[in-house]
Amino acid sequence: MSLSRVMDKILKGRLWDFHGGIHPAEHKLESSQVPLVEVALPPLMVLPLKQHIGSSAEVIVRPGERVLTGQPLTRPESRMQVPIHAPTSGTIQSIEPHTVAHPSGLSEPCIHLIPDGLDEWRPREPLAEYAQLPPLELVKRIHESGIAGLGGAGFPTDVKLATGREKVEILIINGAECEPYITCDDRLMQEEAHRIAEGIAVLRHILKPRLVLIAIEDNKPEAIAAMRQVVDGDSVQVRVIPTKYPSGAARQLIEILTGRQVPSGKRSLSLGVIMLNVGTVFAVRQAVLEDEPLIRRVVTLTGERFAKPGNAWVRIGTSVRWLLGQFELKPEPRQRIIMGGPMMGFTLPHADVPVVKITNCLMAPSEQELPPAEEERNCIRCGQCADACPVSLLPQQLYWYSKSAEHDKAREYHIDDCIECGACAWVCPSNIPLVQYYREEKAELYRLDLESEQAERARQRFEAKKQRLEQERQEREARHLQASSARREQMTQQAGGADPIAAALARVKARQAELTTETATDAADISAQRAARKQQAIAAQAARQAASTDTVTTTVQTNAEPSADPRQVAVAAAIARAKARKAANAATQPAEHSAAPAVPSAETAAPAPQPAASDDPRKAAVAAAIARAKARKAADTATQPAEHSAAPAVPSAETAAPAPQPAASDDPRKAAVAAAIARAKARKAADTATQPAEHSVAPVDPSAETAAPAPKPAASDDPRKAAVAAAIARAKARKAQQGSATPTSTAESEE
Ligand code: SF4
Ligand code: SF4
Repeated sequence: MSLSRVMDKILKGRLWDFHGGIHPAEHKLESSQVPLVEVALPPLMVLPLKQHIGSSAEVIVRPGERVLTGQPLTRPESRMQVPIHAPTSGTIQSIEPHTVAHPSGLSEPCIHLIPDGLDEWRPREPLAEYAQLPPLELVKRIHESGIAGLGGAGFPTDVKLATGREKVEILIINGAECEPYITCDDRLMQEEAHRIAEGIAVLRHILKPRLVLIAIEDNKPEAIAAMRQVVDGDSVQVRVIPTKYPSGAARQLIEILTGRQVPSGKRSLSLGVIMLNVGTVFAVRQAVLEDEPLIRRVVTLTGERFAKPGNAWVRIGTSVRWLLGQFELKPEPRQRIIMGGPMMGFTLPHADVPVVKITNCLMAPSEQELPPAEEERNCIRCGQCADACPVSLLPQQLYWYSKSAEHDKAREYHIDDCIECGACAWVCPSNIPLVQYYREEKAELYRLDLESEQAERARQRFEAKKQRLEQERQEREARHLQASSARREQMTQQAGGADPIAAALARVKARQAELTTETATDAADISAQRAARKQQAIAAQAARQAASTDTVTTTVQTNAEPSADPRQVAVAAAIARAKARKAANAATQPAEHSAAPAVPSAETAAPAPQPAASDDPRKAAVAAAIARAKARKAADTATQPAEHSAAPAVPSAETAAPAPQPAASDDPRKAAVAAAIARAKARKAADTATQPAEHSVAPVDPSAETAAPAPKPAASDDPRKAAVAAAIARAKARKAQQGSATPTSTAESEE
């Protein structure tokens, strides 16, 4: 249906109906018949920075600062920010979090103001000649006055007016006030109809609509009469609509007045319609014609627990607890205070919260008047909720999907279109708090949307960065390619036309070939040098051995004089053995190192086979090793007779000087000890006597002492005699030891 045809029907006074709706008890007369009163200033006012849809503005006052009535306390920096103003003159006490009017009971930043009681206004600039001003000038004034929808939505009014300024056909003034108990709009229309009419005139100047409709439910006859008195009935008409909840909801009221439904997900402006609450219209009038920002509003105080229910002008920021006291609340145990009506309102966490711009009602019901919610039962799928839903939703489906967190399904069934009117819960026989489920689901969907939006922004930033880096890489490569081409061209020109790359490659290959050749040559040289060093080392070793042999031989010959000192004899014997071993070594290389045959060692007296001179050092080494082995064997053979009495020429000490046999004694242990001592001494003497013989392969004449065997003690039974005999044997053995060393050394020196 075209808008012109709709307009014809509207002008003829036709009304439409919407689906669903309920008819709860109204309870309006308790407060609607009482004149508006002005509430006294409280001792402390708490002003939340955010009282509207949007973000809070920047605070421009400090604690301790005195402010005047109507002075702005915050400064908006965007369209969706709405300023707040000092509701009265006083001093800023603090800016800190305070519990706000919300079911969660959460705290938000608030300005705390201590009124001084003077209520001193800041300078005011009323725009009495507003009709001469451009509409946007008025919109600016409305914005600066901090006006947000007083019907409960809290949408910034200046934004609504600015966006619909040249698109609106019908301006609807919402005075339906369909929720039970609430009568603030009713009372305002009754008492301030002419000011509301002035506000409508201001709005018409701004929006220039073709028609203005004031919608009032038929349960407010005084308000209807009052408004009809102040409008012309032509361009501004009063429409009396049937009482049905929620006829005051925006979409339902538009449908009632125009017969058209606002499409899902769109605003009423899509139909050429803008709707404002009568309280908002009054606030616009005050802002333009009085330069009075939104610092007060009408609040309904109702419920059986109030001694004097009614409506009052309340300054924004007034404590609810203070307000309840002003209206003589008679609380019962666990008294509930509901902000809003019984259908869409919520129970306050406590009474120490402030009145804000969207506070239209404070309700203190008794338990009989508004019983607490009964126990929730299972859904019986009766379908009554669907019948009552004014948006034609399926509340029971939304309930299931909200409860089971099936977010996609909840969206699919248009949970976003739910206006939270509570009609479904009101009719539900199972007492299911359906609206609470919907609110929680909406909050969850909002959170998910926010996360998705943030993730999408992050993804876009990542993609943009990736694209930028790729573009920079390509540009960098292009620059490098261009530079290399220029360089190659330059080199080609310098090389007389030859390809510089090919020339460079050829140079590299040539250099690699040179390196390969040099490496092979170096390996051969290193091998040859290693063989030469080996030969030199062998020759040097042989020379050192020969020199050492000469020196030792000379030393022995010079110093080995007969001596009675057995240590000297032992040293001389050791030198003789070393000399013999070295002589054997030297004998293995006769061609190179047998230069001193005049001083043969004891071992050379029994020379090993002399290997023929050879140029092969390995053969020479083998021959030397054989010679040393033979010399060592010969030396060992020479020592064996002395040790084991195999050769009579060198009798062992035990044989030559047998241990005295202990005589038979009465004490056999003493005799045995004496005999053992005698044997040990005789063995020691024999060992000493064999040392020269071990390394002297030449026949040695036994010395006089060694030739004379130790006298054998006669067998005796006297132990003392045995001991004496043992001592004699030890002395003889020691003497034999000393004497045996001397002939050997002498023999060596003679050699
Ligand atoms: S009214 Fe209640 S019980 Fe009936 S279908 Fe709806 S949610 Fe279920
Ligand atoms: S609260 Fe939502 S689902 Fe329930 S009746 Fe109202 S609009 Fe429909």
